Amino acid sequence: RKRDDVDAEKLEEAVSELDLKATYASFTALPLSAPTTAGLKAANFTKLTDIQSKAIPLALKGHDILGAAKTGSGKTLAFLIPVLENLYRAQCVGADAGLGAMIISPTRELAIQIFEILRTIGRKGHMFAAGLVIGGKSLQEEQDALIRMNIVVCTPGRILQHLSQTAGFNVDNMKMLVLDEADRILDMGFKRDLDAIVDYLPPDRQTLLFSATQTKKVSDLARLSLRDPEYVAVHESA
Ligand code: ADP
Ligand code: MG
Repeated sequence: RKRDDVDAEKLEEAVSELDLKATYASFTALPLSAPTTAGLKAANFTKLTDIQSKAIPLALKGHDILGAAKTGSGKTLAFLIPVLENLYRAQCVGADAGLGAMIISPTRELAIQIFEILRTIGRKGHMFAAGLVIGGKSLQEEQDALIRMNIVVCTPGRILQHLSQTAGFNVDNMKMLVLDEADRILDMGFKRDLDAIVDYLPPDRQTLLFSATQTKKVSDLARLSLRDPEYVAVHESA
């Protein structure tokens, strides 16, 4: 057996014992893999923000999440850490493992920012193949990279184009869908694209949906794409 298998099993046990009533203040108190722990430390992330301490334990345990917290509250790590960890424990790593997580962002600029943070915390020993699919390259170039990725950060229109056109782009084993800035995705008119994307994805995946505001549009989207979600909100006055 590979050492990673043993690590993943031990972590699985620690995650199953995670107490959802407890408050986890620092990243070292959470059952995270050695590469993620080292990546967070190297980037000087030590204490969890409010939204992170509410969302990460639930997401590590596999719950769907509907999260709302204002801009600047740290939503990116609230989904990137569970993505890295849940795929690591599932051993969804390497070119043969296929796509494990899809992170959808409203704009190319935001997608690039998410990808940079993913690279920052993933650089200490994780072996995931991750990439951006946001247009700006030829479809062919993106296709060749996409079919090897474990984690893709993308914009709605472009990933839908690949789902409908790229032979060999298999999402059957996809474990996690993240919708970041869901309110903006909807404001920008991507509702129909999102519905079409979700139709391609396996229904037994985990979905994490984050937004800066809670609107009716967002709760409608959550109702259609999430399964029995945990509502996680951080309010201004807190
Ligand atoms: P949001 O998506 O909610 O607008 P971001 O994820 O972009 O917020 O984070 C906002 C800022 O806070 C970034 O500069 C990020 O590096 C920083 N940050 C996030 N989490 C932490 C943390 N746990 N400790 C210190 N800084 C953090
Ligand atoms: Mg954000």
